[in-house]
Amino acid sequence: MPTSPSDQPWKVPLADVTLRAELSDAAAAVVASGWWSMGPKVAEFEGAFGEALAARHALAVANGTAALHLALLALDCGPGDEVILPSLTFVAAANMIRRVGATPVFCDIVGEGDLNLDPEDVDRAVSPATKAVLVLHYGGFACDMASVLEIARTNGLRIIEDSAHAPGSRWNGRSCGTIGDIGCFSFFSNKNLAIGEGGMVTTDDDELAERLRLLRSHGMTTLTWDRHRGHASTYDVVLPGLNYRLDEIRAAMGLVQLRFLSEENTARARLARLYGEALDGVNGYAMAFSDRLGDPSSAHHLAVALVPDAASRDRIRAELVERRIQTSVHYPPIHGFSAYRDLEPSRSLPQTDDAAARLLTLPLFARMTDEQLGLVVDALLDLQAG
Ligand SMILES: *Cc1c(COP(=O)(O)O)cnc(C)c1O
Repeated sequence: MPTSPSDQPWKVPLADVTLRAELSDAAAAVVASGWWSMGPKVAEFEGAFGEALAARHALAVANGTAALHLALLALDCGPGDEVILPSLTFVAAANMIRRVGATPVFCDIVGEGDLNLDPEDVDRAVSPATKAVLVLHYGGFACDMASVLEIARTNGLRIIEDSAHAPGSRWNGRSCGTIGDIGCFSFFSNKNLAIGEGGMVTTDDDELAERLRLLRSHGMTTLTWDRHRGHASTYDVVLPGLNYRLDEIRAAMGLVQLRFLSEENTARARLARLYGEALDGVNGYAMAFSDRLGDPSSAHHLAVALVPDAASRDRIRAELVERRIQTSVHYPPIHGFSAYRDLEPSRSLPQTDDAAARLLTLPLFARMTDEQLGLVVDALLDLQAG
């Protein structure tokens, strides 16, 4: 159980994993097999993940940040290129854009009810240098892909979907992460499909898949596993790649977690709906994505409340710590960080600035009990009496 700053266990942590004997059994079986690095379990995990999402190619990687880095490299984003992304996202996306030498261009969100990027502002952000749009499906709620696809088609842009929040999310009947050119997933411990560290890239494009495969493992044409099995004895190096491979132990855990993903997402959806019923429009609170809480098309990675003003948000957060309830803020906007503040040209992001000052991420995980949810709701209503 995660602990709070006072070293008392949280009564309600922000996120928590579900402990399952199947996970330790799966990990132990790989350890006993004697083959620990990328091999048959990774291939099996990729196959199962790709099938679950109906993605033509799924490649397991070391983490979600590696997935984003590989996606940008595979699409040839580099110096002179601009990549449009929301500022209200995890910093990894912007960091990787900078890391490949490209320039992040931040766009605004729709508003407090819909924390996804605003397609109209994406349209305004497009310049002759724009190479790609890197979208986030915030909290598991698909962004307006129809508009993003149209903007990309009109301007000849590529689309990367940061789907770290969205394994199992759907848009228009399609899995998030399979709509643009490349989808990027994270299996970090607080994500919907948790294995500690890990990620996946998905694409329907055979050429991109081959580039991603090469970039993931040193640009080498064969794997240690192929050579071990006698399927190859030498290799060529066709581009300067990285080592972003996943290992067998975590792939085996991933196969277990994938089996439980839809059950866990359903449990999250139910809890999110209960938050909405208890809080939306009550005592000055609103819930982000209130019209989609409980909808099975969302993976419900996050439950986000909005409070009336920034001062009450910070006061409420502090009081919740006293009550041993953990909250967070997804996210401090990237354009406010020291490393990004000086970026030119700076764009005005009024909806992002407003929502980011007032949003409060509430505890949400599949095994959270109704009693825990009740503690959070009662505390919030109490702290902001109507
Ligand atoms: C978690 C996360 C990442 C990074 O994934 P890691 O596996 O931690 O590297 C990237 N983008 C978003 C939106 C995330 O939530």
